[in-house]
Amino acid sequence: MAVADFQTVIGLEVHAQLLTRTKIFCGCSTAFGGEPNTHVCPVCLGLPGVLPSLNRRVVEMAVRTGLALGCAVRPKSVWARKNYFYPDLPKGYQISQYELPICEGGEVPLTLDGVERTVRLVRIHMEEDAGKNVHDVSADGSSGVDLNRAGVPLLEIVSQPDLRSADEAVEYLKSLRAIVMALGVNDGNMQEGSLRCDANVSVMRRGASEYGTRCEIKNMNSFRFLRQAIEYEVRRQVELVESGGRVEQETRLFDPDRGETRSMRSKEEAHDYRYFPEPDLPPVIVEPALVERLRAELPELPRARAARYQSALGLSAYDAGNLVADAAVAGFFDAALAAYGEGAEAAKKVANWLTGEVARLANETGEAAASWKLTPQKLAAVLRLVDAGTIGGPGAKQVVEEVFRTGAEPEAVVKAKGLAQVSDAGALEAAVDKILAANPAEVEKHRSGKKDLTGFFVGQVMKETKGKANPAVVNALLRKKLGA
Ligand code: ADP
Ligand code: MG
Ligand code: ZN
Repeated sequence: MAVADFQTVIGLEVHAQLLTRTKIFCGCSTAFGGEPNTHVCPVCLGLPGVLPSLNRRVVEMAVRTGLALGCAVRPKSVWARKNYFYPDLPKGYQISQYELPICEGGEVPLTLDGVERTVRLVRIHMEEDAGKNVHDVSADGSSGVDLNRAGVPLLEIVSQPDLRSADEAVEYLKSLRAIVMALGVNDGNMQEGSLRCDANVSVMRRGASEYGTRCEIKNMNSFRFLRQAIEYEVRRQVELVESGGRVEQETRLFDPDRGETRSMRSKEEAHDYRYFPEPDLPPVIVEPALVERLRAELPELPRARAARYQSALGLSAYDAGNLVADAAVAGFFDAALAAYGEGAEAAKKVANWLTGEVARLANETGEAAASWKLTPQKLAAVLRLVDAGTIGGPGAKQVVEEVFRTGAEPEAVVKAKGLAQVSDAGALEAAVDKILAANPAEVEKHRSGKKDLTGFFVGQVMKETKGKANPAVVNALLRKKLGA
């Protein structure tokens, strides 16, 4: 098999749950979780005799997203009924947009291996989410339906088949995620499914002029799964074609446990959605004045922000990219830097903490930046304690961790945990002497110039002092005692 003889072609359909407080056509809460079927009413339950009434915030968020991505915003767009029968869809149809979506065209920027490019969009439309089937809910193994999610507003963002590799698809999704988060229209929480995507994948022999037949892999909710699914699917299709077979257009599911995609339904069984205009909702009219107001309110977008961090603050592309991936983290960075200092060196320090230790802690706890107990002021205070020599690197790490978990004041943590660094040469001399006396062979090796063992001695002294020795002072003492 020769994957290299083939060109991969990918188009993504991304579903982004909008950050409205209430659902798209009723007043029910959009909050995630909650006891099953507690955020429901006759409208989102699809009971007869009710009428949907549009949440204006949904339209504003759709337009906001369209403007940020350079789409054309349709002054008049239309709702459509997408009919299908499924237990999590009590009405028997989903209200969506079909022929006349709210946004068309536009593009998403992405950077791969340092090269910037854009991926064209086909369209963005608004729709309602369906409910969720929950399996094994009771002792007899029966399934249930939770309709809390039914009627939660979504944007579907459809790309052109412009992507050429799994890596590119992942970068596209990362870029789009950063943008919708910066716009405040989506929380970027892929684990909870508030951002998820379908990948359309095909392969063609290099040099061919027509795209191959695509398969659509449904509903991936992590970057890792997206990458794995595409890579698996490309191998499967290439093997199929190489062995004389033909790719059939079908919908497939990714199984994360086995790292495989498998067929869900073929084109023959494909839904005929019998789309028709939604009779219960008037067309969506977007006045030019609204477009202009929303355009004026657009925030700085991730790519521009990253460029500014590089040019104005001297951050590396890597650090800048990491920070702007989450607008709340970038906001934290700005505030911490303002509280701490100015210039490239200060920026680098704050960025290091945020993309290193703090990111690790946030990952571990899954907490969004907006709800961290560590505030920008507290991070700045930790950095000042380091600058003043009160704590060293390892101590600072412990302080940050404790503040992150409890929200305590950094200075109080230093006191409570006894993390203050010992910088007094007199106090450290005994420890240095002890280590040198305990390691005569190493001292000899070092003195004879055979091997520079300074690092070893510093490490031993740190151990001896439980990490509290100021390494600079220890270094100076060693130089004095061992000769330069
Ligand atoms: P549908 O509505 O049936 O899903 P669309 O024409 O709207 O079909 O396309 C859906 C997605 O499939 C788009 O993101 C598009 O870029 C992508 N796509 C279309 N043709 C191909 C292809 N040959 N290979 C990969 N992706 C494709
Ligand atoms: Mg599709
Ligand atoms: Zn409702």
